[in-house]
Amino acid sequence: MTGGARMGVPFVVAAPSGTGKTTVCRACVGRDPRLEFSISHTTRAPRAGERSGVDYHFVSPADFRSMVEESEFLEHASYGGENYGTSIEALRVPMEDRGHDVLLEIEVQGAAQLRDRQRNARFIFLLPPSMKVLEQRLRGRGTDTADAIDRRLGVADRELEAIRFFDYAVVNDDLENTISSVLEIIAAEREGSQAAVEMARARHDRQDVHTAWLSGGGSRRD
Ligand code: ADP
Ligand code: 5GP
Repeated sequence: MTGGARMGVPFVVAAPSGTGKTTVCRACVGRDPRLEFSISHTTRAPRAGERSGVDYHFVSPADFRSMVEESEFLEHASYGGENYGTSIEALRVPMEDRGHDVLLEIEVQGAAQLRDRQRNARFIFLLPPSMKVLEQRLRGRGTDTADAIDRRLGVADRELEAIRFFDYAVVNDDLENTISSVLEIIAAEREGSQAAVEMARARHDRQDVHTAWLSGGGSRRD
């Protein structure tokens, strides 16, 4: 990074699988030239259309293990029987070399590790409109086996509990509204003025959003 240049901010986006993290994060990155996507490493097989180095770095279990042993990950976790991790390089290059902010689309165990280790990170939790819609989205995506979908739904409630250590929450109902909300949060944190951050926090306060979601029947599955 050149002298005095800006250091980017990591924005962690987490949600139960199927909520729409990837869709929202990709759209945000496409609309903000100073925002990049953190490319994780994973041992899972690529889905149709996914490319190594673009969607993920797809690696073997042995390669993943050796990266763990060499302390190359900022965080890593096991999910659905596969390993996922954010390498130190995945953040260093965009944040330090280019001064860009980075979106990390990760699951909640990894988010908890970053909460302790990455003091400048901001945490955004996405909620599905309801658990029923979550299931419909997972099935509708058509990328996972019935078993994998059941495993993902089986951990969704536990994942939702992690909302308590996030800074912001947004319900991913209307996609355009969600994208605008996430970009608004990023813009406010980037600007850094107390007034802008307070306004974004008031509009997307994690506790208020969660309470409204629960009282609106968000946890219903029928
Ligand atoms: P995640 O990354 O959280 O697992 P995806 O981004 O893959 O979720 O989205 C899961 C499915 O839901 C996809 O088929 C996607 O097109 C759809 N989806 C995402 N956001 C919305 C939305 N706001 N409204 C309707 N469908 C959505
Ligand atoms: P998927 O297999 O659907 O792409 O991802 C499964 C889960 O792993 C999602 O919740 C996704 O956000 C999460 N994930 C993707 N990359 C990482 C990562 O680098 N670290 C962690 N902890 N989770 C990740």
